[in-house]
Amino acid sequence: MLSNLATRDVETLIHPYTQLAAFRETGPLILERGEGVWVYDTEGKPYLEGMAGLWCTSLGYSNRELAEAAYEQMLKLPFQHLFSGRSHDPAIELAEKLKEIAPVPVSKVFFTSSGSEANDSQVKLVWYYNNARGRPQKKKIIARLKGYHGVTVASASLTGLPANHTDFDLPIANILHTSCPHHYRFAHEGESEEEFSTRLAAELEEQILREGPDTVAAFIAEPVMGAGGAVVPPAGYFPKIQAVLDRYDVLMIADEVICGFGRLGEMFGSTALDIRPDSISAAKAITSAYAPLGAVMLNEDMYQAMLDESRKIGVFGHGFTYSGHPVSCAVAIKTLEIYQREDIVGKVRARAPHFQNRVTALEQHPLIGESRGMGLIAGMEIVADKATKRQYDPKKGVAAKTVTFAQEEGLIVRSLAGDRIALCPPLIITEEEIDALFDRLERALDKTLDWVTREGLT
Ligand code: PMP
Repeated sequence: MLSNLATRDVETLIHPYTQLAAFRETGPLILERGEGVWVYDTEGKPYLEGMAGLWCTSLGYSNRELAEAAYEQMLKLPFQHLFSGRSHDPAIELAEKLKEIAPVPVSKVFFTSSGSEANDSQVKLVWYYNNARGRPQKKKIIARLKGYHGVTVASASLTGLPANHTDFDLPIANILHTSCPHHYRFAHEGESEEEFSTRLAAELEEQILREGPDTVAAFIAEPVMGAGGAVVPPAGYFPKIQAVLDRYDVLMIADEVICGFGRLGEMFGSTALDIRPDSISAAKAITSAYAPLGAVMLNEDMYQAMLDESRKIGVFGHGFTYSGHPVSCAVAIKTLEIYQREDIVGKVRARAPHFQNRVTALEQHPLIGESRGMGLIAGMEIVADKATKRQYDPKKGVAAKTVTFAQEEGLIVRSLAGDRIALCPPLIITEEEIDALFDRLERALDKTLDWVTREGLT
């Protein structure tokens, strides 16, 4: 029986990433408030937030300083735009801060309201850049299978997951995909991580040569893949990929939407994984998700080309009403200040070994084929047979069942395509809370195993 509020939800909302038919039966999980790493439903039941919302509420749920920063900015100047040379203090100050902490020299910052808009802007900026450089044929962008870059038309095209393409008539032209660097799933028998990386880099090179290097403009990648299953790249992967890109004058775009701002134990994932991006997308933890904000941070060469082009054609015809929204910028400035003051990167480094020990220990569970992670992000793969890595019939929704059992246990985790479970808790999580998270997850996996046995799934 659904509650009154749940019934109203079912009758009125379309939920993103939800099985619309099944949802009519199950109804929503309605959350009402949050405190630290905990959220509470309308009955007052606490849940440990093992996903920081959607990989984003890095400072947890009850940070007064962030709320006050938003409130004060709303009273002072709730809105101004950046069109036609208009500006305001919060956008200027935030852009300066981002340049200061960026993992590579950044020339200019372009603000958006989301990660999807940031990546859509990347596509357009790359095209604009190559038009400006007099290479109108150099337009193809290579992303990776299982990569996630958003859901707007161009960013969903970059995303390499079937659910984001099927029935949406995507990807658009000029977007290509290369292999996913998941060693457990895609390495050949006996292939080391280094050998796997070498093979993937060679494959990318062949693809660029096949397409014609003068048609390939950019490569985009998340340092650690998030929605594709929290995939940590194999040893040596990015330096080998980067060498190929350098050979053919292909831009590297780092999608730091999840990994940015401390998640991997460095301020940016690019530093943690040896990526030398020409342009960076950021969002989510830039405001600890207290206000919507995304950013594109690009290098001097890209900026100079844009400058030349706009001298020729006039106005730079791209921008959102909310590019550099002052309230979001004020929240982001405060968020970055807290990250620095509280040494959030140092805290992640201090907690990561314990977190990752518990991640690795999950491989002892009969259902878990691989359990992997880095910093404070992790993914587990549920398998029917550990020896062959065979999975259950996807229609049975085994990982989704684990999510339901976890909720019973007072834990929020996320299931991803391919019977995977993701963990990405707020960066402020303590050691005791890490233990509470994994104790609950282990109980949820035990319940899943009982259920699988009862259902006779093989
Ligand atoms: N890039 C990555 C790596 C992401 O994880 C996401 C969101 N999960 C996006 C882009 C898209 O961001 P948004 O949902 O804010 O549009």
